[in-house]
Amino acid sequence: MTLKTLNKTTIDASHDPMGSAISDYYKNGRAAHLRVLSSMFEEDEMPVEHLFRSEQEMPQLEKRALEIVRGKVLDIGAGAGCHALVLKKKGFEVKAIDVSPLSCEVMKARGIEDVECINLFDPQLQGKFDTILLLMNGTGIAGKLARLPMLLNRLKELMAEGAQILIDSSDLKYIYENEDGSVDIDLGGSYYGEVDYQMVYKNIKGDSFDWLYVDSTLLKASCEQCGLSCNVIEEGDHYDYLARITSTQ
Ligand code: SAH
Repeated sequence: MTLKTLNKTTIDASHDPMGSAISDYYKNGRAAHLRVLSSMFEEDEMPVEHLFRSEQEMPQLEKRALEIVRGKVLDIGAGAGCHALVLKKKGFEVKAIDVSPLSCEVMKARGIEDVECINLFDPQLQGKFDTILLLMNGTGIAGKLARLPMLLNRLKELMAEGAQILIDSSDLKYIYENEDGSVDIDLGGSYYGEVDYQMVYKNIKGDSFDWLYVDSTLLKASCEQCGLSCNVIEEGDHYDYLARITSTQ
């Protein structure tokens, strides 16, 4: 498996299932099934309308994140722009980035002025932000646990003095939990939060990519390694949590 999430490029529109679904939904108010395949799970579906959720429809973790946003905001992997749009309406200066050109077009059409189709790891992405948002399992962008410090160090470059990173994730251990509470995890194997996905929409098949779910203990440890301080500020109902990461210097 190649580490495609950490390359520095954007997606070609002809290989962009999620962006195509977002674009269809924006234009027609509905979309076909956005299928999510993985070598580890049964086939699933991503409800496209969820990517267009309003503030009221957002999970509590995300509402909380939006409440504590301050200053100049960078929304990374902004998708259809649901968070960026809420923040813009509240008067925040928001830049939204995504690797999907189709998603970026939709965000612009929805009224977000500062949208850039760029990969977070592209060094051409520069600037200093007071709040950096990575929502809907933002740790996923690291791809693998071993790459989490690379993600955090990259985010550090984009932090203004006193900035905060708001990022959510889930502890996937519940998948391996038995009814008696014991856990079937192969300790010699790779970290259980490392997942691979491939999205399919109509006849458009995306490349498979690695996506990292990380428990809060490991996220905290990785932050410390990078000179960052991480606090869980809200827990969700299902092993999910919102973390606020700040600089320790
Ligand atoms: N934040 C949005 C979308 C989450 S889906 C929401 O909560 O609804 C994750 C998004 O991250 C996708 O739109 C994907 O295209 C984008 N993405 C994945 N890797 C990225 C990277 N390296 N740089 C920028 N965006 C990325």
